[in-house]
Amino acid sequence: MAIGLYIHVPFCLKKCSYCDFISYPYDAALAESYVYALEKEMAFYAGNLSGGQRAAKSVYLGGGTPTVLSGDQLAKILRISRSCFNIPDNAEITVECNPGTVDREKLEKLRKAGFNRVSIGVQAYQQNLMSVLGRVHSWQEVLTCVRNSREAGFNNINFDLIFGIPGQTMRDWKETLDRVLELSPQHMSTYNLKIEPDTPLHRDVTSGYLLPCDEELELDMYWYTVDYLTNGGFMHYEISNFALPGREAVHNLIYWRNEEYLGLGPAAHSMVEGCRFNNVKSVETYIRRLQSGETAVDETLSLSQAEQMSESVFLGLRMIEGLDLEAFERRFGRSVFQVFSEQIRALQALGLIETAERHLKLTKKAIPVANEVFAEFI
Ligand code: SF4
Repeated sequence: MAIGLYIHVPFCLKKCSYCDFISYPYDAALAESYVYALEKEMAFYAGNLSGGQRAAKSVYLGGGTPTVLSGDQLAKILRISRSCFNIPDNAEITVECNPGTVDREKLEKLRKAGFNRVSIGVQAYQQNLMSVLGRVHSWQEVLTCVRNSREAGFNNINFDLIFGIPGQTMRDWKETLDRVLELSPQHMSTYNLKIEPDTPLHRDVTSGYLLPCDEELELDMYWYTVDYLTNGGFMHYEISNFALPGREAVHNLIYWRNEEYLGLGPAAHSMVEGCRFNNVKSVETYIRRLQSGETAVDETLSLSQAEQMSESVFLGLRMIEGLDLEAFERRFGRSVFQVFSEQIRALQALGLIETAERHLKLTKKAIPVANEVFAEFI
């Protein structure tokens, strides 16, 4: 089966205050060495996965901020991917970008190179909330980025948005949704802000400098989003994701269906042939290892069938339509009701899961406590 290819670009212009992803300040020389190391890593996997050169139905350049690299570097990464993996013409090829890091010329170069989807980190409309997040771009730059993307030929655009920001009101969130819908995206990812330990935002909240958003307000924002976007023609297809019909993210569906994906670059995670593995986090170590002919893999975990079944259930339950019961049985040779009978009975009795149209799915009541439901299957 075709895999999803994820390429982690670990550079940003400036660290956002809530961010705990692996990203480093952009440095031209380091970035050049990183692209060279990535080339070596791709060549390694081209020759070392079972079944020969693997097909990839999606390529996703995430970060970090991939678009801090030059258009030529990004085009080169895609060109090398094509030479190492069998990527069909209709594959979804996404690049994440932050406003202010792309101009029309770079976007045209990316489109011409074969990228066909752009995911823009918009986050919020109000400048004061962007400052709380430590984001560097303005709304004007969002507008310019969207216009340039369209003019460059991108007709599949995602916006990442964040709600539950300290100081954010319901009115702010509604205004953000209104403003972004005016820009006609095909897909929207709306994430509830998680304040991660060891981030500047965490320090601001624990010191009392900022007040965290009230949990009930976060829930109201969530359900408002669901109503507003579904009334606006979007399908709510995963807990945090919405798409116009036919524009669901191919790459993300690979994760939620627990299919195979290969992650390249520092800190990237993979799930191939029943094995989960991740690369070293440090970009310098990543480069050094590949330059000296070693792999960048740091940890490998071979998953038992029981673990693979658990993962398939809790990932599948993230999708609003739920876990495909027939696909589960085809893959594991057993029905999910045989394997998890106790958990399913208990959760059904609590009104947290249900079956519908050959799927096992969360009920509406379960969505706010989804993580607790998932934990039952681990
Ligand atoms: S742009 Fe994204 S990856 Fe980069 S620092 Fe901000 S949140 Fe982190």
